[in-house]
Amino acid sequence: MSEETVLVVGGGIAGLALARALRARDLPVEVAERSAGGTGGLAINLPGNAVAAFAALGLGDRLARFGRPIARREYRSARGKLLFAVDEDEFWGAEARPRCVRRSDLLTLLSDGLDVKVRQPVEVASLDGLEVTFSGGERETYGFVAGADGVRSTVRAALFGATSVSASLLSAASWRFMAPNPGVDCWTVWSGAGGAALLIPVDDTEVYVYASAVRGGPVDADPSWLHTTFGGYPAPVRAVLDSVRDRPDALLHSPIEEIRLPSWSSGRRVLIGDAAHATAPVWAQGAALAIEDALVLADLLAEGDWDTVGARFEQHRRPRVTHVQAATDRFARAAGLPIWLRDRLLTIIGTRTYEETYAPLRDPAWRTEAW
Ligand SMILES: Cc1cc2nc3c(=O)[nH]c(=O)nc-3n(C[C@H](O)[C@H](O)[C@H](O)COP(=O)(O)OP(=O)(O)OC[C@H]3O[C@@H](n4cnc5c(N)ncnc54)[C@H](O)[C@@H]3O)c2cc1C
Repeated sequence: MSEETVLVVGGGIAGLALARALRARDLPVEVAERSAGGTGGLAINLPGNAVAAFAALGLGDRLARFGRPIARREYRSARGKLLFAVDEDEFWGAEARPRCVRRSDLLTLLSDGLDVKVRQPVEVASLDGLEVTFSGGERETYGFVAGADGVRSTVRAALFGATSVSASLLSAASWRFMAPNPGVDCWTVWSGAGGAALLIPVDDTEVYVYASAVRGGPVDADPSWLHTTFGGYPAPVRAVLDSVRDRPDALLHSPIEEIRLPSWSSGRRVLIGDAAHATAPVWAQGAALAIEDALVLADLLAEGDWDTVGARFEQHRRPRVTHVQAATDRFARAAGLPIWLRDRLLTIIGTRTYEETYAPLRDPAWRTEAW
């Protein structure tokens, strides 16, 4: 392969977004993705800055055909009391209205019409400088390598050795599933001492359900944890749990892991998305940060001088990622307070916390000329 080409390792949200952004700037790019297909039917919540990043990729209109807009958020106690609510429509505006979308639709959207060579299912087995060895034993040298290969990144290991992956402060794992909508019309979370259950409508008939602990520590991989933890929660939560009682295959249990690194690059090799900064989905910033990373990196690569791109990328992206990590930690610590205190606090500072977290993210951080 030509040494003018960028290799993107990983064809998830970050990798596909980067491949699209590079093609839009006429830069040669290849993608290597180890899995054979999409990621099933679970969904993802896209706050306004994620929606705006899709628009910057040229996919705004097409994104609007998938999932459902989210006009309002409600934070409720385990007994159903409304602690605070946010008018998301007003906060983000019509151009960046949050959405909940199936992950498989998102990956289809990002890969649809993408005119690049995708090696799939092919794993990047190792990296020596810019020489890449693929799972079949083939070796190629590229001009630049972007590691968009997620929490367990091979590229990160090649750059920095074994770096630690830490469990989220909020919850070491989560359960996710789809269920018939029990009558919820907006993003709604019920949170108590044992755990938080979040329901988001993904279309007219189904909701996406996310359930986790709130004070750190393990979440049992036996589905009975869900019924024990949330059995006394309000009717909508009990209804979605009932709908999966006899469908354990519909349930996805997965760890919530974080990556905090002092550096994201080495020479002409850069980490983006979860490989660089996986963060617990407290503020649902995973997709947004991944696509913003892709837009910034593509702009910098298009400017030239690939030897300095890594340092410039970090300079652009570090403040925004640090802001999200700090907001995530603050929320996780508040969630661990005694429930009577936490609920009282949320009624007072909930709306302000939402605004302080998201207001800086409304700025279009992917425009490098803005910095
Ligand atoms: C429980 C949970 C809920 C979440 N909810 C939300 C949410 O509502 N909103 C949101 O924005 N974010 C959410 N996130 C975070 C979001 O899912 C991630 O931030 C996002 O998927 C990151 O995308 P990525 O492309 O960086 O990584 P990934 O999605 O992990 O993609 C990495 C890709 O690289 C491939 N790969 C890995 N290693 C190799 C290799 N060696 N060679 C080739 N290919 C390789 C993998 O197969 C994969 O396709 C959530 C995360 C969790 C755990």
